[in-house]
Amino acid sequence: MGEFELIRHYFAAAPCAQAAEGVALGIGDDCALLDLPAGEQLAISTDTLVAGVHFPDPCDAFLLGQRVLAVAASDLAAMGATPLGFTLALCLPQATNDWLQGFARGLNQMAAQCGLALIGGDTTRGPLSLTVTVFGRLPRGQALLRSGAQGGDLLCVGGSLGDAAAALPLVLGQQHAAPEVAAALLAQYWSPRPQLALGQALRGKASAALDISDGLLADCGHIAAASGVALQIELARVPLSAAILALLSLPAAQHCALSGGDDYRLAFTLPAQHLSGLQADGWALQVIGRVVAGQGVQLLDEQGRVITPPQRGYQHFGSSGD
Ligand code: ADP
Ligand code: MG
Repeated sequence: MGEFELIRHYFAAAPCAQAAEGVALGIGDDCALLDLPAGEQLAISTDTLVAGVHFPDPCDAFLLGQRVLAVAASDLAAMGATPLGFTLALCLPQATNDWLQGFARGLNQMAAQCGLALIGGDTTRGPLSLTVTVFGRLPRGQALLRSGAQGGDLLCVGGSLGDAAAALPLVLGQQHAAPEVAAALLAQYWSPRPQLALGQALRGKASAALDISDGLLADCGHIAAASGVALQIELARVPLSAAILALLSLPAAQHCALSGGDDYRLAFTLPAQHLSGLQADGWALQVIGRVVAGQGVQLLDEQGRVITPPQRGYQHFGSSGD
């Protein structure tokens, strides 16, 4: 199958590439065209996943299709953007029907879940890597930035943390777990649910936000630096799932939650007056700390004493990573 036939069969003809609101022109021309209502801004983010670096190779193509889009869509959630579309740059060592079929199925499933239309891409031969660029829209000036946290705000997260990091040894076949525990943890790794609806609900309320991809401590450090404040995290309030506690000791689970990567949950700062309204609307957000004057991230024990945090999140070119 040639390049154009491959694009047509697996991507242009896919359910996620069909006509969608806001997409004036999709796959097939030199560019896609997006319509943006007056008074709105375009939010854009790119993520690349490389075989052997960001996912094991070989791995299940269906799961990879889900994951590559979820990871990218999570950045739209973190800005509070409404999803529009995405492009896919695919670099493949070979084009096998089974792989492409599974991959497209996973991509379609996550695209439907996120409300994202496939609007273009590129297909090349080479070592397996995938680049997704997502596009979303926002009322002008309402994006959730990292830079707005203010002393006195609450620090919140959108759900339990650490599951994907705890799943990694299972993904790599280095550890085994009871089937229901493994299933719950692996689901968080392979098909994280971008918190798009929560992000949109936080527009006009949260003072700063991001999605946790490199570990809670490292990512909260980004909010602290961008906002010129300190974030205090109460260790006992960091939410942990039943699955992670079934697999790991409390300190090991806490370590995953603080420093593991791949959570794709939102972390945000919130003026306290907005908390009860969001909770009344049913958002499962957890208050884990607060914003104070100063800089950096402080981890507190139950007596409010500062604990020296263990190693920070994953960095590709940093001393703690690779
Ligand atoms: P060009 O040579 O102009 O870059 P291509 O031949 O690469 O065009 O692609 C033809 C069309 O197919 C374009 O609209 C492009 O966006 C789309 N496309 C290519 N690869 C993919 C892909 N993997 N997924 C979705 N659309 C793709
Ligand atoms: Mg091209």
